[in-house]
Amino acid sequence: MPKPFTVQDFSARMARAAESAARAGLSGLVVTPGPDLIYLTGYRPVAVTERLTALVLAQGRQPALIVPKLERPDAEGSAGASALKITDWADGTDPYAAASRLLTPDGRYGISDSAWAMHLLGLQEALPDSRYQPLTRALPMLRAVKDDDELERLAAAGAAADEAFHDILRVAFAGRRENEVAADLARLLMEKGHSQVDFTVVASGPNGANPHHEAADRTIRTGDTVVLDFGGLKDGYGSDTTRTVHVGPDVPDEVRTVHEVVRRAQQQAFEAVQPGITCQEVDRVARAVITEAGYGEYFIHRTGHGIGLTTHEPPYMVEGEEQLLVPGMCFSIEPGVYLPGRFGVRIEDIVTVTENAGRRFNNTPHDLAIVS
Ligand code: ZN
Ligand code: ZN
Ligand code: ZN
Repeated sequence: MPKPFTVQDFSARMARAAESAARAGLSGLVVTPGPDLIYLTGYRPVAVTERLTALVLAQGRQPALIVPKLERPDAEGSAGASALKITDWADGTDPYAAASRLLTPDGRYGISDSAWAMHLLGLQEALPDSRYQPLTRALPMLRAVKDDDELERLAAAGAAADEAFHDILRVAFAGRRENEVAADLARLLMEKGHSQVDFTVVASGPNGANPHHEAADRTIRTGDTVVLDFGGLKDGYGSDTTRTVHVGPDVPDEVRTVHEVVRRAQQQAFEAVQPGITCQEVDRVARAVITEAGYGEYFIHRTGHGIGLTTHEPPYMVEGEEQLLVPGMCFSIEPGVYLPGRFGVRIEDIVTVTENAGRRFNNTPHDLAIVS
């Protein structure tokens, strides 16, 4: 178990968030339950319900958390609680009137992307002159740069996913349904210390051509190419890795060719990683390799996404994303080729930006593994 984050950690994060909000021209931030609230306060309500919970951050003011009265003891028990001014509202009273007292009436706020529409509309009705924008648009970098303790957790999550991959190579594929292999992957992730499995893609044969195929009833056969993409949370931080395997030793030439192209694209994009290049540059490098090999039109997915407290978050490695890479950022590099009706190949590692390069959190071999 890594050492838990302290109230000092949470205070520093909240101060930095409030400062970034001010710099972005905002009056402050309204953070509802989810990864941002966990990041800033350590507070994770037992269930996210229709009852309003919100953290209000504004530069120069003590962070304020408003919670339903019946959940107050839970909030007070969270790791960051002593840095917060906690207030509550009771069932039968107006939560938006109560929350609006924490806001500037004509303020401009960044609000959690996942805030319920009813809460946002409630705040707007209570304060008709207040304005809101989604937090990831207002402050896309809020959680993007990880500190050393976070990097340690992400590295451990990656290593655990790698162990799961190592073990999955030993299970039977041929004659079993994708769902069965997916269940094996989920069990392995939990055995290796994950507390939550977010996805277990087992995309065999033609199903591999759909980058977002999860797993279905298709029975895997000898001769299939199978995309395995799996991840979840370990000690609160994400894993996400993909390897493509082949069932049986007789690998068709085109599968070998495509796999090698994707491997090179992944490697070159990884080697391009260094502070100061843009996110889109990572995508461009991978795309150039695949395009040059004649498969450009079959690389239908962006090259990567950020990872941290969630398995998919900003920044995105995609054309148009001009955000610069900064040491401590963590994201996937996952080029793929998706051939409709036939098969798909994807190779994915989580990578972090160091002072002068990239460092992988997934380190299983990139060659086309043979399973049986
Ligand atoms: Zn995707
Ligand atoms: Zn993935
Ligand atoms: Zn991914």
